Amino acid sequence: MMRLTADWLTRPATQAVCAALSAGGANAYFVGGCVRNTIIEASVSDIDIATDARPEQVIEFARSAGLKAVPTGIDHGTVTLVSGGIPHEVTTFRRDVTTDGRHAVVSFSTDIAEDAARRDFTMNALYATADGAVIDPMNGLPDLQDRRVRFIGDAVSRIREDYLRSLRYFRFHAWYGDPENGMDSDALAAIAQEVEGLGRISHERIGAELLKLLTAPDPVASVAAMRATGVLAQVLPGADDTALGPLIHCEEQASAAPDAIRRLSAMGGNDARDALRLSKAQSARLATLADNIASTCDAAELGYRLGYDLAKDVMLLRSAVMGNPWAPATDTQLNIGSKAEFPISAKDLMPEFSGPVLGQKLAELEGKWIASGFAATRSDLLAS
Ligand code: ATP
Ligand code: MG
Repeated sequence: MMRLTADWLTRPATQAVCAALSAGGANAYFVGGCVRNTIIEASVSDIDIATDARPEQVIEFARSAGLKAVPTGIDHGTVTLVSGGIPHEVTTFRRDVTTDGRHAVVSFSTDIAEDAARRDFTMNALYATADGAVIDPMNGLPDLQDRRVRFIGDAVSRIREDYLRSLRYFRFHAWYGDPENGMDSDALAAIAQEVEGLGRISHERIGAELLKLLTAPDPVASVAAMRATGVLAQVLPGADDTALGPLIHCEEQASAAPDAIRRLSAMGGNDARDALRLSKAQSARLATLADNIASTCDAAELGYRLGYDLAKDVMLLRSAVMGNPWAPATDTQLNIGSKAEFPISAKDLMPEFSGPVLGQKLAELEGKWIASGFAATRSDLLAS
């Protein structure tokens, strides 16, 4: 039997949650990402726990043990137990009663096999006890070890229960699939056949999944398969992934961390803000990138005007779109520009200039200063 070893598993805050549930008589198991990622030695972000206790009991057991219990998703059986400042999402075993492609009506269960059967992929239905013993009701371990994302049960029926699973398939493939293996042809055929169902999923859920997918180190194969199955056009009409591969390549050459908005920018698409319900900050960044890719500003000027990070995004995107390799000298230029400080302020020009003319004069001197490669001094500029 496989046994997990991980810092999160043995830390007192997490063991206290397990102890609280078992003191009440509940069976509780770690499940989902924390188990999957521990096995493949990937980083673990959040801790999900599945239990046979009902949500009211989970709250009661937590309070008896002095833990804070927050009913974060009580309707579908989720209570968040906060221990040592760390949230642990505890969800009662469930079985789907009816599904309409978006929402499931669930009933609670005491059977781990039923709980496993309603999860999406075999690698996501792995459980572990408080002492790390792995339980694998859907035979997900071999798939995880082969890095194969596989639907639990029949792909078409599972997609019809919740169309978001089509997008999740590509997300998990991007993160955990073996690029050499390719994707399961049955899964791809099912996703292509059911592509229109994605139109019934809220833009928020679509956006959250797509951004997670685009944050994977290399999402190129997943996005290409999304295009081939019609998923890309369905979730982001007008998107084109031609520049995505070149962008990932430039990112690697430039040691730029994966970034979903930069990658989204490379794919275009009509109104990503609405299609993916982006936040204000995300859509503002997307707009800035789009405005600057085609501008004539060089790297140093972009660095000065936008700051290092955004300017680097623009330069990466330009290289990708033009099909050019990343030029290491670009980084030097970005640094110079982002550190440059314009030596003139409005005060230097007053009272000689005022109102709109003052603004024009400042812009004119700033232009001269940039054109000098940030070399012109304050007195050079005032004398000019
Ligand atoms: P991450 O590391 O991104 O959090 P995760 O596997 O924990 O990965 P979540 O989206 O947090 O992913 O979901 C937790 C678990 O709940 C999944 O592993 C899966 O078992 C189940 N799950 C989540 N969404 C669905 C869905 N739409 N259909 C079926 N099962 C799902
Ligand atoms: Mg999770």
